[in-house]
Amino acid sequence: MGGRGSSYFNASGNFRINVTDTYKQDEETKKRTRIVEKLVSRNVQVMKSTDKIPDEILTPNLKQLDRIMSKFRQYSNYAEVENLKVRTEKFSNPRIKACFRCKIDSFERPEIIFNKSYEKDNAINVKEQVQKQIDIGYWTKSDKQNLLVHTMTHEMGHYVQRVITQQIAEKRGEIDKRAQNPLKYDDEIAVEMRTKIKKICKQTFKTTGGTSIYGASDPYEFFAETFSEMLTCDSPSNTAKSLEIYLKGEK
Ligand SMILES: [Zn+2]
Repeated sequence: MGGRGSSYFNASGNFRINVTDTYKQDEETKKRTRIVEKLVSRNVQVMKSTDKIPDEILTPNLKQLDRIMSKFRQYSNYAEVENLKVRTEKFSNPRIKACFRCKIDSFERPEIIFNKSYEKDNAINVKEQVQKQIDIGYWTKSDKQNLLVHTMTHEMGHYVQRVITQQIAEKRGEIDKRAQNPLKYDDEIAVEMRTKIKKICKQTFKTTGGTSIYGASDPYEFFAETFSEMLTCDSPSNTAKSLEIYLKGEK
C-alpha cells in the first residue's frame, strides 16, 4: 500500500512536486554496505526505499554524497546538522529525477529524494539524459565520469545553501526575523549570495558570472547549478571557482 499523496514546492518554489509520501513507512536500509556505514558516521541515513535502485546508480551517488559532506565540513560546521535522509518517492512528474526537501520554518527532516523511476533505469541511460541537458545549455557542465552524480550534486547544493542560510541567520542574530517570514528571508539571502558570488567572479577573474539556462531562472537554482559544476568538473567555470571562494570565506 502506498502512502497518502502529498505535494510540496521544489527548493526555489517555482513548481510543485507531487509524491506518494511514504516517509512514515520508511526505515533505515538493512543493506549495510561500507558506504552506507560511512554515511551514518556523517549523520546521513540511507533508507530502505532506495533498496531497489540499481547499485550502479546508487553507489556512485552515495560516494559523491560522502565526498560532499567531507568537503563541506572544512568550510562549515555540518556535523551539527540534523540527520539527512536519502530516500525515494514516486514523483508524478517522471522528468524530475531528484529533489531536496526540508521543512521551511525549521531545519528539520532534510531529505534527498530520488524518483522511484531510477529503479527501472540504468547508468548508461542516466548519463545520456544528463549529457543532453548539458549539451543544450540547460544544465551546467559535468565531466564524463561524473554525469551519473550530476543531479544529486545539484540537489545537495540546495541542502548546502539551506544550511548556510540557517548559519547566517544565527550569526547575524536574525533567527526571529527569519521565523516571521522564512520564505522571504531565504529569498533575500539567496539573492545576496548570488550577488556576492558574481562580485567575487568579477574581481578575481574579470568576467561576469555566467550560468546555465536553469541556473539563470532564480538565485536558488543559480547556487545549485554552480555547486554541481564546482563538484563534478576538474576545470570548472570562473563562476564555480567563485562559489568555492565564497564558501571558504566570511559570509
Ligand atoms: Zn534545483
